[in-house]
Amino acid sequence: MKEMEFTALELAKKIHKREISVREAVEAAFKRIEEKEAVLHGYITLDREGALKRAELVQKQIDSGEQTGILAGVPVAVKDNICTKGIRTTCASKILENFVPTYSAEAVFNLEKAGTIVIGKTNMDEFAMGSTTETSYYGVTRNPWKIGHVPGGSSGGSCAAVAAGECSFALGSDTGGSIRQPSSFCGVTGLKPTYGTVSRYGLIAYGSSLDQIGPIARDVSDCAAVLEVIASYDPKDSTSVKRKQGEYRFMQALVEDVAGLRIGIPRDYFGEGLDPEVKAAILQAVRVLEERGALVEEFDLSFVEYAIPAYYVIASAEASSNLARFDGVKYGYRTEEYKGLHQMYKKTRSEGFGTEVKRRIMLGSFVLSSGYYEAYYQKALKTKALIKQAFDRAFAQFDLIVAPAAPTTAPKLGESLADPLKMYLGDIYTISANLAGLPGISVPCGRDAEGLPIGMQLIGNCFEEDKIIRAAYTWEKSREKIDLAAAE
Ligand code: GLN
Repeated sequence: MKEMEFTALELAKKIHKREISVREAVEAAFKRIEEKEAVLHGYITLDREGALKRAELVQKQIDSGEQTGILAGVPVAVKDNICTKGIRTTCASKILENFVPTYSAEAVFNLEKAGTIVIGKTNMDEFAMGSTTETSYYGVTRNPWKIGHVPGGSSGGSCAAVAAGECSFALGSDTGGSIRQPSSFCGVTGLKPTYGTVSRYGLIAYGSSLDQIGPIARDVSDCAAVLEVIASYDPKDSTSVKRKQGEYRFMQALVEDVAGLRIGIPRDYFGEGLDPEVKAAILQAVRVLEERGALVEEFDLSFVEYAIPAYYVIASAEASSNLARFDGVKYGYRTEEYKGLHQMYKKTRSEGFGTEVKRRIMLGSFVLSSGYYEAYYQKALKTKALIKQAFDRAFAQFDLIVAPAAPTTAPKLGESLADPLKMYLGDIYTISANLAGLPGISVPCGRDAEGLPIGMQLIGNCFEEDKIIRAAYTWEKSREKIDLAAAE
């Protein structure tokens, strides 16, 4: 269906010009889903009926001139840890199997206000803990480029759905790389905004001080457009930041120009452990930006080796506290047979959570317990502050930093689960941005010998999405020109 070959902005334009109706756009997405889902499994829940009903309403609003949003009428998929009023939201966990939220997350509310149509909820690692979408209670998602490989995680369902044209764009969440890493594995573009830019209201919390919702889309322009729609100051989220008016106009950064932009290449990110093909593809893209006038220089970021231990202590600590609410009383699953309240809690949580989630809860409870709090949790917080300072020093010298999104391309299904420590190490290039609250974008920059996509990550200083969007956009346009030249 050609509708699903358009970017979200292109599709919205055609809807606006009445070349395609909203209903046709939504039906085209479901047609793709019918063709692809049996193999891919990007979704946990689909809402065909609700989407078609909304399509009718939005069409009327467009026809009457009441709805003029830049993405009006476009079908969107939402990661299943983001609450959608009336649509089941499971966090890919058994414990929330029957949870239907009574309200929508602020980001979803903003999307709907702009006239987009939520068509379903995407698969993910259980409670967003993982890097492969294999810890989902509802089964794995496959990489659309090579179905024997993982799509990455935890927003693997969202990225696979975008890559396969099962939606025009999707929302993901990123606590330690869960938007950027699967985007790179699936050959799509994903942006994690500065902490506090998109409201966390209605995002089921994993590591609250690190979590951010962000767009996953077919190109940089769509990412900027979606971010412009979902970003807002929200008093319902105590960590929401009121940015300056002009700072919400992310599309203004879609400028093909990097002349004079100072790009830093951290030597610590391009050494041992990085796949040579991934390294070569990224450095090639950097050379293109340099040819377009960017000033590129290597430097030492430092503290890189402490990021993973600090992240896993902080994220697990926050998770252990956040997940205490799932006790069989307030939400979702409750064990069938029990004697007394304590046994009910114990059995509910033992049966309701998967292995990885339990591992994090235990780790988190341990590092927060008296006697270990100072040794682990407090030390991790101090390390986080040092990492932030290292980035502050880097951004005094550079406008943005280039990094891989992951050390390798997508691994094969089943390879990562056996060794969780190895899986944690794969987060090395993404977690620091979360610890320091920085924005980061992953853009496709080539393929490996097997044909699997490679992503380049651009990290910006806090509140400077404009710079990473501009550089990513310039790279994307240059790449299109290179592709065209090669085709001729
Ligand atoms: N892989 C990391 C983790 O398991 C990051 C996940 C995320 O960003 N949600 O914690």
